[in-house]
Amino acid sequence: MLEMTTTIEARETDRLSALDRMELMDTVPEPEFDELVETAAAICEVPISLVTLVDDRRQWFKAAIGLAISETPREIAFCAHAIQQPELMLVEDATNDPRFAENPLVTGENHVRFYAGMPISSPDGFALGTLCVLDRVPRKLTTTQVAALKVLGRQVNARMELRLHRLQIERALAAAEEARAKLAASEHRFMTFMDSAPFIAFLKDADGRIIFYNQMTADTFGVTREEWLGRTDHEIYDERDAARFRAHDMDAVRSNSLRIMQEEWVDKDGVVSQWCSYKFPCAGADGSTMVGGFWINVTEQLRSDTELRRQRAEIEAANVRLSELAATDSLTGLANRRVFDERLAVEFAQAKRKKRELSVMILDLDGFKRRNDLYGHQQGDAALRQFARLLEEATREGDLAARYGGEEFVLLLPETDDAQAAQLAERILEKIRAARWEDEPLTTSIGAASLDAAMASDQRLVSLADEALYAAKRAGRDRFVLYKEYYKQVVEQMGASSS
Ligand code: GH3
Ligand code: MG
Ligand code: MG
Repeated sequence: MLEMTTTIEARETDRLSALDRMELMDTVPEPEFDELVETAAAICEVPISLVTLVDDRRQWFKAAIGLAISETPREIAFCAHAIQQPELMLVEDATNDPRFAENPLVTGENHVRFYAGMPISSPDGFALGTLCVLDRVPRKLTTTQVAALKVLGRQVNARMELRLHRLQIERALAAAEEARAKLAASEHRFMTFMDSAPFIAFLKDADGRIIFYNQMTADTFGVTREEWLGRTDHEIYDERDAARFRAHDMDAVRSNSLRIMQEEWVDKDGVVSQWCSYKFPCAGADGSTMVGGFWINVTEQLRSDTELRRQRAEIEAANVRLSELAATDSLTGLANRRVFDERLAVEFAQAKRKKRELSVMILDLDGFKRRNDLYGHQQGDAALRQFARLLEEATREGDLAARYGGEEFVLLLPETDDAQAAQLAERILEKIRAARWEDEPLTTSIGAASLDAAMASDQRLVSLADEALYAAKRAGRDRFVLYKEYYKQVVEQMGASSS
């Protein structure tokens, strides 16, 4: 018994869901149902006809004529009985029917006597309500009227079902329209973004065919928005460019990573532009790998970079020239006296500390005044330059040759002792003798001095070399004198004269 109740309750729950699904309860009147109750009343020749729907608490009239109310409680509904049976329910005189004799619809102001209700049902077979006709007097229906009422009942079913389908289709259409509008908005947003972007953007499918490119691409390459769609690089560019672009694409796909490259592009007017190209793999909806790309124009940037580099190099070169000027004698290109004095101080200190040899040599050209007078100052300058080259050739790396002033030159000779200085002086004299001079042979006198432990200052080395130089001049020029030798000679002479 309990099991049966449960089954009935479950069935009622399903019936109520079926009623819900029809979406008909408490909706506004619709002509397609109104005209059916009008027809039913007319055919059955009664004043009242209804399309009723029965939910858990009440019966509600989707369509009604002849009755001022729009619903009744379920307990007093004739239709609540009618939906329990599959076929037409007929009550010819309610006062004689024990089920309805005491019903307020019968005893009350509505005076219902006659009732005929054809159950209507959902497409899945749940009884939802009725198409019914009522009268305030007892009556019988002819066979034709019964048949017509059945047909009209089925018509209500059909229209209910159609109405639901129509609703569903309308709803699906609205959803589709909404989706389409959303898609269109999204597409529009994407295109606006891409077409306003100040870079070239494109997308190629797995076969290398262009499936999208933006406005700047079209503008840069002078094509329409459609012209390149579906084309490969080989159908667009010359063989060399196409092969290069395709290789870059494949590189991005194979490495499955971003590839950044520098591209140069020459347009049809011969204008060269520089681009930074970004290529990256993109997963297609079908699982294929597409290639996305951006090209950013860096022509201006590179140009200003190059210009900046050029300016910087110019400044650097100017600085180098300036410091050279300050350090170099402009006539001969040798170091000047300032540089010599600086280097001398450094080398002197170092030689003393490390107990190393150090020599200084001074060279003064012979009879240069006369030479100038004879051949002119210009020729003199040329001779000075030639002499400077000879000095450079004669010295080794680490030595310093400088113009000390006028036609005087100095050599700073680290790690060189008296004997080595003498050898060098001899070599220089030889070179000068062997050289071809523009106007007449040139000679020089040389004085040299070497460091000894007692020497207190660097300038002392220079003055000793200078003394030796003047000894060389006095001895007849075109020769060299070592201070040490000269000193020995002086001492010997003093000894001789005193004895
Ligand atoms: P000596 O040294 O043999 O005693 O004779 P000198 O004629 O060389 O004598 P001194 O050293 O007194 O003269 C140097 C001359 O060198 C004087 C000057 O006209 C010349 N002189 C100095 N500097 C330059 C220069 O830059 N260019 C030229 N052409 N001559 C110069
Ligand atoms: Mg001189
Ligand atoms: Mg001289």
